[in-house]
Amino acid sequence: MTPATNLPDVELSPGTLAFFEHQPKGLLIDNQWLPAADGQTFSTVNPADGRPLAVVALAGKADVDQAVQAARTAFESGPWAEMSGESRGELLWKLADLIESHADELAEIETLDNGKPIRVSRRGDVPYTVKHFRYFAGWAGKLEGRTIPVSVPDKLVYTLRQPVGVVGLIIPWNFPILMAGWKLAPALACGNTVVFKPAEETPLSALRLGELMVEAGFPPGVVNIVTGPGLPTGSAITSHPDIDKVSFTGSTEVGRKIMAASAASNLKRVSLELGGKSPNVIFADADLENAIRGAHWAGFSTSGQECTAGTRLFVEAQVYDQVLEGLKEQASHVRVGSGFTPKVHVGPIISEVQLTRVLGYIQAGREAGAEIVTGGERLGGDLAVGYFVGPTIFAHQDDDLQIVREEIFGPVLAVTPFDDWDELVQRANDSNYGLAAGVWTRDISKAHRFAEAIHSGVVWVNTYGLYDAAAPFGGTKQSGFGREMGQDALDLYTQVKTVWVGL
Ligand code: NDP
Repeated sequence: MTPATNLPDVELSPGTLAFFEHQPKGLLIDNQWLPAADGQTFSTVNPADGRPLAVVALAGKADVDQAVQAARTAFESGPWAEMSGESRGELLWKLADLIESHADELAEIETLDNGKPIRVSRRGDVPYTVKHFRYFAGWAGKLEGRTIPVSVPDKLVYTLRQPVGVVGLIIPWNFPILMAGWKLAPALACGNTVVFKPAEETPLSALRLGELMVEAGFPPGVVNIVTGPGLPTGSAITSHPDIDKVSFTGSTEVGRKIMAASAASNLKRVSLELGGKSPNVIFADADLENAIRGAHWAGFSTSGQECTAGTRLFVEAQVYDQVLEGLKEQASHVRVGSGFTPKVHVGPIISEVQLTRVLGYIQAGREAGAEIVTGGERLGGDLAVGYFVGPTIFAHQDDDLQIVREEIFGPVLAVTPFDDWDELVQRANDSNYGLAAGVWTRDISKAHRFAEAIHSGVVWVNTYGLYDAAAPFGGTKQSGFGREMGQDALDLYTQVKTVWVGL
């Protein structure tokens, strides 16, 4: 059986079919597609039907070493090292054009590998990736230093903003191509070279992106893509003595390991975008129809597999029953299914492991006495072949429940009433995480007071889950540090050099 026979019976573009024709997929090192040095491979699985989709090379330490060496050489010498910022920008723009012209196939590959609805891949993930590359293409020629007035006489002091060097980029499975754009675009705009590892569950869109990067004309060694699991592939990056910086998105647990690996190897710089358990607040004076719809999607979009998912919903007591009823009603209309099923709203959970984890949390919630308002089961029938769970809502009054404190990364929303402002702020901030927050109210001063009081890196007022290439994004507390996107992302991928000149 050729691996391509596992493609589902849906109409796919010729580009997608051609992509799956050639397997196993290699590692991109120095602009060549290579098998792993020891020949190891792994299969990536379609979460909608549990069947292997493609065979991919599994990079070990020797492969990561080779990728780092290629990246180091490209950083120190050759066309990339000589290239002006403006020319780097042109290359990034060209890549954005190529992604746009291959949008259909990239969206299909993403939906096959990750499971998300094809409509979301087409209208969201792929076009936003294009926007990221274009936004940072614009910055590439604008990396300015400053002149600094100092107290010492007859001295000119200025700063240069320079790339960090060889950068390791590690991303998770929930937004594979978009997160590739979040990290690759600023890293390359700033003149770094990269060793990039997508998640083992979803390597395919990154590999197609790699092909487009070669086609766009990125010089050898500038972008190296190594596929494989956290161990050995990811850890070979984080512990590598010749990688200057690691930018990571994923769980807080792995974030800790990355800091430890940095400390034990070469004190490489680290930026971390980690988990969350974001509070979302509905005040009684909110436009309730809007707030209920917003709170629903804050919890259930991408089947809850979002670091910013608004999974701790606080509702002012006067409207608590009304909101719970509204949420239950919303959930009853959600169409869960394969990403290629017409009009489907949400797709599967990414893997069997993650499914088991999510169901384990739901069971823990039940056992701890939280009331299930709706959902709570693995979906059967035609969906039994994949990893599907419907929107699950718990009503509770106990902030210490495991389902309230821990990131589940599945479609599980915990809803609780609150009575007054002080109680709300104290409870909303009572979390190890601090990534995102939402607030729904018609009172503008309440909204701004909440935005100031909440411990989080982003706050949405009367909306939720919006991102833009120009708007900084990142966490506080154990949700990590460093801001991706926007001008702030340039700080992650450059360093400042101070030059003193005696006049
Ligand atoms: P991980 O944090 O384990 O994975 C994120 C990335 O890190 C993947 O590419 C992974 O590789 C890699 N990785 C894993 N271990 C190491 C290591 N020791 N050194 C270097 N890289 C490593 O997330 P999971 O996929 O396991 O998901 C587990 C939980 O993490 C979720 O349930 C959710 O709570 C949270 N999570 C948070 C995300 C966020 O956006 N904040 C995103 C994804 C998950 P690989 O997967 O290939 O093994």
